Amino acid sequence: MRAEIVSVGTELLLGQIVDTNAAWLAERLAPLGIDVYWISQVGDNLGRLVEVFRRAWERSDLTIATGGLGPTEDDLTREAIAALLGEDMRVVPELEAELRGFFTRRGLPMPERNVKQATLVPSARVLHNPIGTAPGWWVEREGRVIVAMPGVPHEMRRMWQEEVMPHLRQRMGSAAIVSRTLKVLGPGESAVEEMVRHLIASANPTLATYAKPDGVYVRVTAKAASDGDAWERIAEMEAHVRAALGHHIYGVDDETIADVVCGLLRERGLTLATIELGSGGMLANVLGEATDAAAVYRGGLVVGPHDTGALGSAAAAVLAERGPASPEAAGTLASTAGERFHADAGLAIAAAPGPAPAGEAPPGTVHIALAWRGEQRAAAQQHRTTPTEVKRRAAMAALNLLRRALLETGGRA
Ligand code: ATP
Repeated sequence: MRAEIVSVGTELLLGQIVDTNAAWLAERLAPLGIDVYWISQVGDNLGRLVEVFRRAWERSDLTIATGGLGPTEDDLTREAIAALLGEDMRVVPELEAELRGFFTRRGLPMPERNVKQATLVPSARVLHNPIGTAPGWWVEREGRVIVAMPGVPHEMRRMWQEEVMPHLRQRMGSAAIVSRTLKVLGPGESAVEEMVRHLIASANPTLATYAKPDGVYVRVTAKAASDGDAWERIAEMEAHVRAALGHHIYGVDDETIADVVCGLLRERGLTLATIELGSGGMLANVLGEATDAAAVYRGGLVVGPHDTGALGSAAAAVLAERGPASPEAAGTLASTAGERFHADAGLAIAAAPGPAPAGEAPPGTVHIALAWRGEQRAAAQQHRTTPTEVKRRAAMAALNLLRRALLETGGRA
């Protein structure tokens, strides 16, 4: 089935709102086995709306429109569909009663112009909208379907979930497209591509890599007659990807690196503390969002390059002598973190994300260190990107350092 999405509203064309409806719908059509070939945005103008719907009608089996179902004169989606099909809009008494009920329950008089929201054309049936006033339309003629839903995102999403998706699923039989994302930290995108090069030619499942703020994503997508078959294909390909990338894979789908690390700490009964210099608390922030954070994260300090007194004189001396963005600084901060918070592991960042004020280190310098079981592990990176991005990468690298240490040692405290 060939589908296209039409987003209606002049606000979209003026750049006042972003078309999140189309993105949301596109993401949900693929798993149904429906290919989306076009997404268009069109203003509240009858002529252009009819034109867009006509083109969609001619080239697509399914057109999904959102927006333009309101009561005002510039809400013209219904009118455009009626004009395209050459059908008359008629008020449906039951719909009108429902609509009046909506207003009565709120103690409001119904503006007469709202009556047009209770209309249908002969080829349309209603898609109910219990959380708003505009019902949608499911229009079907000559084997083609047009779905019109409200523009308000939560109304649209409910209507999709309850009314539209179940019909489409039924129609499509069980054809399915599913995907799984394997998340990688360590090697960069081109290195990852190199490692999975022998798998990239596969047509089903397909493999694609994406550089993201929290690593490189390897997305495996399979198409099959049923969900079960598609997942089987994914599992088979995932095994190959795992063989190629091994421990570089830290998680799948919605799992974050912080979730994974906190989960490992929790499993092993360990606690963690952090000190950050130059990363503005990014590490603490990321950790704080992890599911198991409360159980394992004792706390963190964020210090400035010249305010290291709070760390104690020994640490301050190392920082003064070696520089605040140095391997020695990171090591000292890591052990200080563990001691200060009575945590099993101390994790630290000593970075110079921008040109000032971290002393001599060039912008983009990142040193990270882990102090655990009386030992230290450290790593250094140099990034050429914005300060915010340097901080984020520093936090990711620090968490990955800890993840690797936990996995390699089997995690005895
Ligand atoms: P209703 O009658 O329920 O208000 P409608 O179909 O008339 O719905 P519009 O008037 O087109 O919807 O849009 C209502 C609001 O919904 C917009 O102001 C905007 O905030 C949001 N909206 C509309 N279209 C989109 C879209 N494509 N993506 C994200 N938000 C949208």
